[in-house]
Parts: sequence; C-alpha cells; structure tokens
Amino acid sequence: MSRYTGPACRLCRREGTKLFLKGTRCLTEKCAIERRAYPAGQHGQNMGRGRKTSEYAKQLREKQKVKRMYGLTETQFRTTFTRASHLPGMKGTNLLVALETRLDNIVYRMGFAASRRAARQLVRHGHVEVNGRKLDIPSYKVLPGQEVRVAPADREMLAVKVAQDQASRGATVSWISVDAEKAAGRLLELPTREAIPVAAQEQLIVELYSK
Ligand code: SF4
Repeated sequence: MSRYTGPACRLCRREGTKLFLKGTRCLTEKCAIERRAYPAGQHGQNMGRGRKTSEYAKQLREKQKVKRMYGLTETQFRTTFTRASHLPGMKGTNLLVALETRLDNIVYRMGFAASRRAARQLVRHGHVEVNGRKLDIPSYKVLPGQEVRVAPADREMLAVKVAQDQASRGATVSWISVDAEKAAGRLLELPTREAIPVAAQEQLIVELYSK
C-alpha cells in the first residue's frame, strides 16, 4: 500500500491522540485534537459509542497509531517488526528501538526538522550526513557513536529553524547529544524503553502480529 498523503490531522483524530505530524502547530491551540478529539466524518462523534471494543480492535488501533506516528507504510512497519523480533530481548521494545534509530527519526529527535515527515524530506533531498558522508535513506539504522549532521552547505538555511524547533520542543532525549550551532548530533547509545517518549502499548502490536 502506498504512503498516506491526505490531511495529517485526520489521522490523529482517528486515533484519538496527538501523533505530532505537523511540527510546531501540534503544540498550539490550532491542533485539531485540542478542538475536535473525535474521528472526522459525519458519524465521527458517535464512533464506537455503546459498543464493546474487541481485543483485535485494540491491537489494530495501537498498531495503526504507532505506524502513523512514524509515517511508515504497512509493509515497512511489518518488515521493521519482523527484523526486530529476531533480535534478543522483548519484541515490542526492539520494535520501538528500531523505529527510533531510523535516520529520519534521529534527525527529528535532534531538532533539525519540526516533524518526522519534514525530517524524511530533509534526508531524501540529501541535506543530511552520517559520519561525514551524505546519506539519503530515511530508513538507515543509525548506530551508537555515529554522528548525524546537516550538510555544512545547508546549515545557514536551517540554522534559525533548528533553534526554533529545539526551543519549541524542549530538551531532546537523553540518548542523543546535540550541538544545535553546528546542526550536528550523535547517538550515544540505544535507548531503553523508559527513555523513549512514546505512549504506546507495544505489547498489543506484538500480539497482533503474532496471530
Ligand atoms: Fe495531530 Fe499535529 Fe494535527 Fe494536532 S496539529 S491533530 S498533533 S498533526
């Protein structure tokens, strides 16, 4: 299935939670979830009312929520899960770590883009380097110790934006170090589950894919 290109806020409303798909707008009162926290459409306000939610529905919604948060297609998400489930440790945590260490997500976490979608575009357009070499693959798995930076030629263009994004989103995560002035950062270590600021019940996704 191809990538969703419709209104981003519609996805948040469907999942009933903020997925932070539109950068700084997500932190203002213009956020659609602040105003209409129910699914879009004629029957949105009545959706699910008076009905018992099945286990399958809960698992499906959790998977959709996380998949949409990271902006992946079903195939990409499933492949990420399959690879993560072959690693030692808890499958759900491995999945989140795999999603968090994608190059586009690292760029987002470092504050070089306001959203994961914008980060992916930055990577695709060749503005990002890993250990000094241009890398335009958003799904590239960043390893601990590697340096990720905005290409020097593009820094001027992004310098103000970097500062603004960082200021608006507060401190970055503890497992990443960032030098905002140089638009560069480093993945210090693989994150633990507690250090990943994502409110997800990943166990539900594991159960869904284990059927
Ligand atoms: Fe989601 Fe951001 Fe739109 Fe709010 S503004 S509904 S968090 S995409």
